[in-house]
Amino acid sequence: MKKHNFYAGPSILPQYTIDETIKGIQNFAGTGLSILEISHRSKEFIAVVDEAQSLFKELLNIPDGYTVLFLGGGASTQFVMVAYNLLNKKAAYLNTGTWASNAIKEAKYFGEVVEVASSKDKNFNYIPRGYVIPADADYFHITTNNTIYGTEIREDLDVNIPLIADMSSDIFSRPVDISKYALIYGGAQKNLAPAGLTFVIVKNDILGKVERPIPTIMKYQTHIDKESMFNTPPVLPIFSALQTLRWLKNLGGVEEMEKINLEKAKVLYDEIDRNKFFKPTIPNPADRSIMNVCFIMNDGYVELESEFSSLAKAKGLLGLAGHRSVGGFRASLYNALPLESVIALTDAMKEFEKNH
Ligand SMILES: *Cc1c(COP(=O)(O)O)cnc(C)c1O
Repeated sequence: MKKHNFYAGPSILPQYTIDETIKGIQNFAGTGLSILEISHRSKEFIAVVDEAQSLFKELLNIPDGYTVLFLGGGASTQFVMVAYNLLNKKAAYLNTGTWASNAIKEAKYFGEVVEVASSKDKNFNYIPRGYVIPADADYFHITTNNTIYGTEIREDLDVNIPLIADMSSDIFSRPVDISKYALIYGGAQKNLAPAGLTFVIVKNDILGKVERPIPTIMKYQTHIDKESMFNTPPVLPIFSALQTLRWLKNLGGVEEMEKINLEKAKVLYDEIDRNKFFKPTIPNPADRSIMNVCFIMNDGYVELESEFSSLAKAKGLLGLAGHRSVGGFRASLYNALPLESVIALTDAMKEFEKNH
């Protein structure tokens, strides 16, 4: 039976990425060696890094003056590095969920943190608006897609201080105006590659302004100077990321990807809104994520939750359990998930309705 992969992360990758990764594991770039057992400083691997960086720039239309870094440590290490490198006295954060809260927690080790707004009062089921960003803060940090709660900021905000975004779970899902951001980072395991790779897109001229000394490995400038080769980078995930980027380019890039993603999200949200057994957890359609669609059993049907779970499993629909802090269901519709899988899910929801 065909399996449909709705896991939130690590998560579905294009079949192309998996096939090409298998080939690279068997014989990398005609070397007769596996990608798993070759020097990160070999010319064949340097070519992989170079192509992956240039595809990042091409697909996201990254202007001059920015560097793309491939690091380890995950997005969680970036919560620390961002503040270490950029927070001099005070930084502003928008609190839209668990990951934003974790970023805030780490930033507090380095200075004053102003939480400009929070949606915690309603279990993070909306994106706050109408807040004031202090003009004297060193930067403003947002989480564009809240993987756990299923909200998303799908516009590139205009702010008067450097804007920093955790885009772990929506990078490459839509075109982004990079020029509006000073730094973008994320773990690659949601929309790009197997776990282990962290990407950072940094505007070079925002660095070098904090007064504190920064340990070598925590310093962005180190990784810029050494072209992501200060220490051994995550070789295999970078190789796989390159395959995903080639796949994305071949598909028509982020503009085309966004069209497909909007269509997938619409099919699922429409069914959640239509089907009396289910309801969305995010009331305002403008705040709903197109990457992580969260829904619960409608009022009066809560006791049927495990029955729907069983039906979904029986149909090969995997990874649908909502995060423990939300409950219900979460369908992650990352780039690599085909529309066909979304339709398999909505078909199961319709069948469930018919059975009752
Ligand atoms: C998954 C996720 C993280 C955590 O990433 P790690 O690479 O595990 O540290 C942070 N932010 C967002 C938005 C995420 O989805």
